[in-house]
Amino acid sequence: MQDTTEDQSEVSRMGEAHAYDVLVVGGGATGAGVLRDLARRGLRTLLVERGDFGTGTTGRYHGLLHSGGRYVAKDALAARECISENRILRRIAPASIEDTGGYFVATPSDPDDYVAGFQAACIAADVDCEEIPVAEALRREPALNPRIRRVFKLPDGSVEPWQLIESNIADARVHGSDAWSYQRLVGMERDGARIVAATLRDERSGSLTRITPRFVVSCAGAWSGQIAAMVNVTVTMHPGKGTMLIFNQRMTDTVINRCHKSSDGDIMVPVHTVAILGTTEQRVEDPDRYEITREEVAALIAQGEVLFPDLAKMRLLRAYAGVRPLYQPPAEVTAAALKDGRQISRAHTVLDHGAMDGIENFVTIVGGKLTTFRRMAEDTVDMVCGKLGVTEPCTTADEILPGQVPGKTYWLGHRLADHEAEGGGDAALLCECEFVTRPQLDAFLDRHPDASLDDVRRGTRVGMGPCQGGFCTFRAAGVVGERAGHAGATDVAEQADRAILGFLRERFKGTRPIAAGRQLQEQWMISGVYEGGLGVESLIEHETPDASREVVGAQR
Ligand SMILES: Cc1cc2nc3c(=O)[nH]c(=O)nc-3n(C[C@H](O)[C@H](O)[C@H](O)COP(=O)(O)OP(=O)(O)OC[C@H]3O[C@@H](n4cnc5c(N)ncnc54)[C@H](O)[C@@H]3O)c2cc1C
Repeated sequence: MQDTTEDQSEVSRMGEAHAYDVLVVGGGATGAGVLRDLARRGLRTLLVERGDFGTGTTGRYHGLLHSGGRYVAKDALAARECISENRILRRIAPASIEDTGGYFVATPSDPDDYVAGFQAACIAADVDCEEIPVAEALRREPALNPRIRRVFKLPDGSVEPWQLIESNIADARVHGSDAWSYQRLVGMERDGARIVAATLRDERSGSLTRITPRFVVSCAGAWSGQIAAMVNVTVTMHPGKGTMLIFNQRMTDTVINRCHKSSDGDIMVPVHTVAILGTTEQRVEDPDRYEITREEVAALIAQGEVLFPDLAKMRLLRAYAGVRPLYQPPAEVTAAALKDGRQISRAHTVLDHGAMDGIENFVTIVGGKLTTFRRMAEDTVDMVCGKLGVTEPCTTADEILPGQVPGKTYWLGHRLADHEAEGGGDAALLCECEFVTRPQLDAFLDRHPDASLDDVRRGTRVGMGPCQGGFCTFRAAGVVGERAGHAGATDVAEQADRAILGFLRERFKGTRPIAAGRQLQEQWMISGVYEGGLGVESLIEHETPDASREVVGAQR
């Protein structure tokens, strides 16, 4: 999603002191939410993201709209925040949510005392919870372990992150703000107690832009320590890697959780045409360098079999990982927070670098969940507005996001239904798994002319279904090449080649740790198409290998 709608060189040439009131760093859900909230309160804001929007943790998470059920026993505050935001998101962003519902099932391995107290803990945290007959749950979800003992129904769901980000950015633009992708913050200048300028590097052209905002908000998640270090401030992050496995079919239409204290491999989330098992928790030094091991994959499957006994027989599509933005507050902050519960919650923390580090126009938001991104943004923007003397109230919970229809949640069959409603017939299909048509791809590329195929994947879901791009990547690359030709490019074939290579590299990363059995057979077949049929291997020789990319966990 290359969304540079403004001439960026213009900004640096003008050297205008306050072209933007606020610079927001990090284009995940939190950054997009903060951008929207600031814009709606009248502050002209620029969001910058070093890659495509939603390529940090937000694009590598599990996909769950939390009901709060996973936290009721150990963290009632987090549970309350989740259910409250769950209700708000259903209202303001229905198209980004599939209302799958959630089952918390007591397997024979789950402790009796936890199961016995679960419903009361839900009620105490205001989380809707109804016990349903086991037979009813098994009728709806026949792949579940037939030995489950009790089932509780909660309002879990599944959330599409990229559309959510795009809607937030669209609303911000309506209110006079902007967002630039592929712009990395590379430095900030400090003059005493203030940040006076920030330098951005265009990750595609290498050009630099200097801007002079009145305020800087870091929403860089697991990378927050790196941003703070640019002005000699310490923010101690403990990035926690979580690995997830994507199966080639929706073995469940409902989110399935084990009814126990949350641990590895105990939740399956149906996401569009696939189902995702997660997750794990492992500290990593660098949020950009980590790997997924075969041992992790095997352990996840073994844990998942407690819920779905036939899991090992199901076909895996890929493994991917994200990094939790876990923050370790210094002791004095924890003490201050205990006095002022608004500043810190166990779920997320807004760091006031004025009070903590003597920089008046800088805050960082860390921790939290995707489900609570709007509330995180509200808390952050309340602090920024307090400092800038802005009294406009937050309206993000009340106004539906652009492109969303009240009450109309996502439905898996919608693309086919929409197509049939328009008369059906030859759909000019590019991606059969996700029902992506040529007009849909053209419409996306019209809006994002510089998009890579990986950006196209996030924007349209091309290549995200069971074939994982095997049968649609070359078609989409052909469209990219054809459009380049119409636009007068002379290197049409090269553009299509580059599009294929970039996309396949990213996709195959996630299949390496799971390459065995039937998935390995499919990989051989797809390799045959691309290497035998299309001769992709000959293109690879011309590419300079980037060793650092090899160890980075694949995307969703
Ligand atoms: C394995 C796992 C599973 C999860 N599952 C769920 C779930 O099911 N439900 C749920 O609600 N939550 C879940 N979470 C939590 C949720 O994903 C995160 O809390 C949320 O996505 C964080 O969003 P963010 O915008 O704060 O961070 P990010 O999405 O990481 O955004 C930060 C952005 O900053 C950018 N950035 C970094 N440095 C720079 C720079 N110098 N210049 C410009 N940009 C920069 C990064 O590229 C990144 O895109 C999960 C997390 C993990 C790790």
